[in-house]
Formats: sequence, C-alpha cells, structure tokens
Amino acid sequence: MSQSAGFDSEFSYELCVCRWAELAWPPGEPVGDPDSTAATTHIVARQLGTHKRRWDTVVVEVDPAELEKRAAFGDAELDSDLLHIVRNAPAEWAWYREALPKPDYPWRYVREAVHRAADRDILHTRRAGNRIEIKRIAPYPDWLVRLVAIENKPDLDASAARRLGDQLSHDVGVGLADEVWVATRRTGELVEPALLEALPVEAGILTTEFDDGVDAESAQIDWHPTVLTPTHDAAHRTARRLELAERAYGRGWRGYHETMRPDCRAFELRRHGRALVPWCRAKGCHQSASMCAGSCADFSPEPPAWRMRGWPIAGGPGAASRRLLADRADRDNS
Ligand code: SF4
Repeated sequence: MSQSAGFDSEFSYELCVCRWAELAWPPGEPVGDPDSTAATTHIVARQLGTHKRRWDTVVVEVDPAELEKRAAFGDAELDSDLLHIVRNAPAEWAWYREALPKPDYPWRYVREAVHRAADRDILHTRRAGNRIEIKRIAPYPDWLVRLVAIENKPDLDASAARRLGDQLSHDVGVGLADEVWVATRRTGELVEPALLEALPVEAGILTTEFDDGVDAESAQIDWHPTVLTPTHDAAHRTARRLELAERAYGRGWRGYHETMRPDCRAFELRRHGRALVPWCRAKGCHQSASMCAGSCADFSPEPPAWRMRGWPIAGGPGAASRRLLADRADRDNS
C-alpha cells in the first residue's frame, strides 16, 4: 500500500470503515437491491460503548418509519435519564412520581430530568399545586432494530488477534450487540487460520481494500458472524442498547472535527474515493486524532485574516472543514 493512498493511523482506517458502512451496509447485500429483506436504513457511529467496552464502529439498523417518529424528540441524543422519562411518560396528565417507574436512584434526579426534558420540548409539564404533572408529546418510537459492533484492525497480526479475541469474547458473552465483526485490510491471501483461531467463531470478518479509495465495493465478507444470544435481562439490555443507539443518533461518526484541529493551517480534508480523510500537510501523513491536538508541536493556527476574508468561501479553511463535516453529519441524521 502506498504511503499517500494508505493509512498511517488506525484512526484514518476507522473513518474509511465508517464511510464504507454508511455506503454499503449490510455486507453481502447488493447495494440498492429492491428485493433485499435487510433493514433499509442505518446509522453509523464511532467510538461508542459502555464504561467497560468501547467499539470502534457501530452500525445501528433502524426501522425507517419509526426513525421518522424519533425526529419529534429533536436532533440531540437522549441520555439514560431522559430516556427513562420519555419511554414511560403517560398519554394523560399525571404526577411524575405516579406515572414513572420507581428509579433505583433518588427522585430528585428524576425531577431534574423532567425539567431538562421540558426545556427541550420533549415532554409536556404543568404544576398542580406543588406537584409537577407530566404528559408525553408522543410515544417514544421503537426505532432500533439491530446493533452491530465492528472492531477495526487494519493489520491483524497474531498479537492483535489475541488481544482482539479476548475483547470479542467479552462482547459475545454479553450479547449487547446483535453481531460483532472484525474489519481488517485485505492482503491478497486468506486470513490465516491461526488468526481465525484466536477470534471467537461468532465474530464475522470483513476484509477491506481502501488503497484506491472508499466505495461500496471496498469490503467483502471472509467469515459470517453468528447472531448473539443476550445474557442480560431483557429490560436492562433494551435500555443499554437504546442509550447506545441514541448516542449514535446524536453524534454520527464525523464528530472528530470537534476534537482535532481543523483550525491549524496544515489541516486538510482529502478526498479518498467517496470518503474525506484528514491529512496533515506539515507531517505529510494522515494524522491520528491524538496527534492532531493543541499540544502538537507543528500546530500553527490559521491566520485571523483567513477567517475575516472569507477564504476560500467563508471563514478560512478550518471553518470550511468544520462546516463540511457538520453538514455531512447532519445529513447522516436526516
Ligand atoms: S500540524 Fe499538528 S495540529 Fe496541525 S494538522 Fe498537522 S497534526 Fe494537526
């Protein structure tokens, strides 16, 4: 793989996998096949998980009609406290303590969340004496169909496979996701049996070819996954999965423009097929997210004049990059 076309960081590889998933999920289905029985809509997110486990790429398969109803609750994600309220809010006015299931934390936190929900216009509230009554704006829709986790390991050598094997065994055991996959760079050879043995048999394997750019054909299935059996109790699992789906809904996968430095004069977004990937002119490589921070020794803020002169369209290249990524993130959620 050439240095310019290839990826110098797992971060860039991850962006390519996310973009491919956006274009072509689910794998193995002809893109745009009208006879496909697969979910027709999905949301892609990156770096989501629980406090114990974070996945590189998450694909949330959704029911399109139910997803449309989700829009009534705004563009931003709903955290677990807000979800507790909107999923249980009654159709008729009722005191919130009678309407909602008793939480396993103090009621005062529920009251705070009721106020937050009202501020976001996702819950009706009114006062009845010194009681707060609530009523739902709409039933919270059943929009999540399946949750799929992908681990990205461009270079799957023996030690990477062993480490990944332990993590994936945990995922398989917990069953929070419906499927887990490993995405790795295609080498032109079959994935070595020894590497396969290090991974749980339930994990699917995707091999990718991004050298010539990202498109819908950039990945193929080398090993099909097994649908996982949940071990959590159903209510707990549903709640955790919805929290993850909500985070995916609110964040998408392009939020890196908030943590990297598109305001650095060396920052570029380079087209790579149907993906845009950050490129650092100063370092001459696809920089990682951790590299591209205020602490970077090569960081050089774009001159204020770039922002004031409306360069090249409006607000300098940094602002233009941010705007482009934010626009695309919005379109993910449309
Ligand atoms: S010089 Fe540093 S901060 Fe600037 S784009 Fe490159 S990696 Fe990012």
